[in-house]
Order: sequence, then structure tokens, then C-alpha cells
Amino acid sequence: MKKEIVIFTFDCIGCGKCVRRCPHHVLKLVDNGMCRFVNVVNEDACTGCGRCQEICPVKAIKIK
Ligand code: SF4
Ligand code: SF4
Repeated sequence: MKKEIVIFTFDCIGCGKCVRRCPHHVLKLVDNGMCRFVNVVNEDACTGCGRCQEICPVKAIKIK
């Protein structure tokens, strides 16, 4: 089944832990000059392993 990655951008503190944890380079940090947050750049590569969700300290990422 296709996995959906939901990012709660306003909760994300831009720590980058999920980016480093993802084995498939699905996530990337974006810096818009005012704040840093995570973005999905390679959704097709996501296996739905849930590692990003587990490591996020503020529960800003959810795998459905
Ligand atoms: S569920 Fe796994 S593969 Fe998908 S974005 Fe999170 S860490 Fe990467
Ligand atoms: S681990 Fe959570 S707070 Fe940190 S960059 Fe990822 S989504 Fe944002």
C-alpha cells in the first residue's frame, strides 16, 4: 500500500534528525531565510519504515 508522509510544518523545529535517519533520502531540510523545516523531496523512495516519525522530538512527521 502507498504510504503518505504528513509533515506538520508549523511544529517542525528544523533539527534535521529525520533527514539523517531516513535511509532513502526522502526528506530534506529547507531554509527559507526565516525558518528551517523539513520537506519531502523523494516520496516514491519511502518504504514507510517509520524511522523519521520515531525520531522526531516534536511529533511533526507522521507516516500513514
Ligand atoms: S518512513 Fe522511512 S523511508 Fe519513509 S521518509 Fe520516514 S525514514 Fe524515510
Ligand atoms: S525530526 Fe521533526 S522537528 Fe526535526 S526536522 Fe524532522 S520533522 Fe522537523
